[in-house]
Amino acid sequence: MPRMRRALATVFLFALTCSSPASAQPGRTGAFTQPLSPRNANYTIAARLDSATRTITGSETITWRNITSKPAADLQFHLYWNGWKNTRSTFMRERALGSGNDDSRRRPDEWASIEVTTITVAGSDRTATKRFIAPDDENPNDETVMSLPLAQPIEPGASATIEIAWTAHVPRTFARTGAIGNFFFIAQWFPKLGVLQEDGWNCHQFHSGTEFFSDYGVYDVSLTVPAGWPLGATGVPRERRDNGDRTTTHRYYQEDVHDFAWTTSPDYIERTARFEHPRLPPVEMRLLLQPEHAGQAERHFDATRTTLKYYGEWYGAYPYGHITIVDPAFQSGAGGMEYPTLFTAGTRWLAPAGVTTPEGVTVHEAGHQFWYGIVGNNEFEDAWMDEGLNTFSTARAVAQVYDPNHLALHYFGGFVPWVFKDIALGRETEGNRLAGYRRDAKSDAQSTPTYRYFPSTGGSITYNKTALWLNTMERWIGWPVLQRAMSTHFETWKFRHPKPNDFFDVVSQVTGQNLGWYFDQVYRSSNVFDYGVQDLKSVRDGDQYRANVVVRRYGEGTFPVDVLVTFSNGERVTEHWDGTDRWKLYAYDRLAPVLSAQVDPNRVLLLDVNYTNNSKTLEPKGAAAATKWSLTWMVWLQDCLLSWAALV
Ligand SMILES: [Zn+2]
Repeated sequence: MPRMRRALATVFLFALTCSSPASAQPGRTGAFTQPLSPRNANYTIAARLDSATRTITGSETITWRNITSKPAADLQFHLYWNGWKNTRSTFMRERALGSGNDDSRRRPDEWASIEVTTITVAGSDRTATKRFIAPDDENPNDETVMSLPLAQPIEPGASATIEIAWTAHVPRTFARTGAIGNFFFIAQWFPKLGVLQEDGWNCHQFHSGTEFFSDYGVYDVSLTVPAGWPLGATGVPRERRDNGDRTTTHRYYQEDVHDFAWTTSPDYIERTARFEHPRLPPVEMRLLLQPEHAGQAERHFDATRTTLKYYGEWYGAYPYGHITIVDPAFQSGAGGMEYPTLFTAGTRWLAPAGVTTPEGVTVHEAGHQFWYGIVGNNEFEDAWMDEGLNTFSTARAVAQVYDPNHLALHYFGGFVPWVFKDIALGRETEGNRLAGYRRDAKSDAQSTPTYRYFPSTGGSITYNKTALWLNTMERWIGWPVLQRAMSTHFETWKFRHPKPNDFFDVVSQVTGQNLGWYFDQVYRSSNVFDYGVQDLKSVRDGDQYRANVVVRRYGEGTFPVDVLVTFSNGERVTEHWDGTDRWKLYAYDRLAPVLSAQVDPNRVLLLDVNYTNNSKTLEPKGAAAATKWSLTWMVWLQDCLLSWAALV
């Protein structure tokens, strides 16, 4: 999902050439000749949506294999929609810690629920033994995790067939899932197994600040919805059957994914296009669009192509051959979310050429196909591994195509965009959301399991901080090296579940350096970095000038930084400070007086929380003063963007 997506509602000079026309391509089947993943959690689902009562009646057969070395004495399932059942769930209690969510006016039918009516394991009815557990916070009112003790443990390597019937009520949207009018976006919607690990089940309760985690498998899903309603889903359509009762059943199929989401609405219009690249496999793109956005189809396709091209070139190929882009209904709250082979974007009725709505969110959500979809980290615990890597990658991809990127704000209830063409927003600062990081820098150490971050500030650590420390690495060790590290991580961990140390190990391996000291600071601590020029003096000494430059480490974080000293005769000296002491003096005897000093002149350390103290000048010239003024302006602007983003 996006972090403060609307802060990305910035403007680009849109310079893409027209896309190549869609050409005939044999339909994709959702199948691979060789399994790409362990396929240990496979779901065959049949579900019927009653759009009038907003209920779903479903049944599923799960074929699950124990791929650990320990027997499983129970099974644990996520029942995510119970997080939106009432205000006593852990999700809702955490949501109340943040601001801006008023759920008190919801009508009873705008809440959600999911109830398992029967469950059998290997043909034996176990319904009576199911119970709710709350492994994270022992909240007795939380019903988002169901444990099912087994009569016989499932041994390592053994498989079990589990059959579940359930009913669920579709809410008015929570967390991008739900309904408004005849628009339905259905995600996290079926009883879903947690992930069995060597240390037991990893099956967290549903939290307001975190997303999901599950094993890879094969999904074969039949969905019955009102006849004539277009439907989009993970995978590819295999079959469509009109039932003669004004309903149609759509069957979708996909191998080697870890989730399945779908959407239906009578209002969707459909467009298709194709991604082609000399070295990457083609991808059929399907767009389900709101009719009022019909004119923006190509922009969605072009932004998706941007992701498939750059992420494909940098990290590895998108293997599925098809992707579905969903433009959700106005005020649905369903925009900006990722699911395997399908994602929701989000645009506005007035989206003039050059505004990054919908490009920013489209690049980001398409990007999750790589970080989240293909490389499947645990989003409950290590959300930075997908959101952070993806925020960094989004900003990088956007900068390739849509640079320069300008500020836009929306007025009159958000409808009317105004473009500030004289304000360029940089990839490194705005793209990586520096302002949000600066605000929340100490809110949590990144290594804290994500579900335990303070809910309303966790995003700044997950998304912004990671993007900033990755971009800092890029500026420090160089993109070719970082790109090699990230693509090695992608190749090593695709269709598996990497942990943070797996990423750090790959980076250290590829760079050939022990970067533990860096990860100790950016990942394992909440220390902030702040270098600055404390003092700059020029003292006349006979026919010479003595220059005293005192640079200081104001923050707890340490990082090697350059110090650039400029003299009035134009001479420039660059010092390399290891940055570990609290301060350092650089003294010079020169015929010319010193003019200025700057710490980290190339702004390698993007995590520096206060860049305005990084330089001092003795004789401010017009240009220098203007720079200072514009820095102040940018600081004000970032704060303004932040407050504004929090309100919408
Ligand atoms: Zn995201």
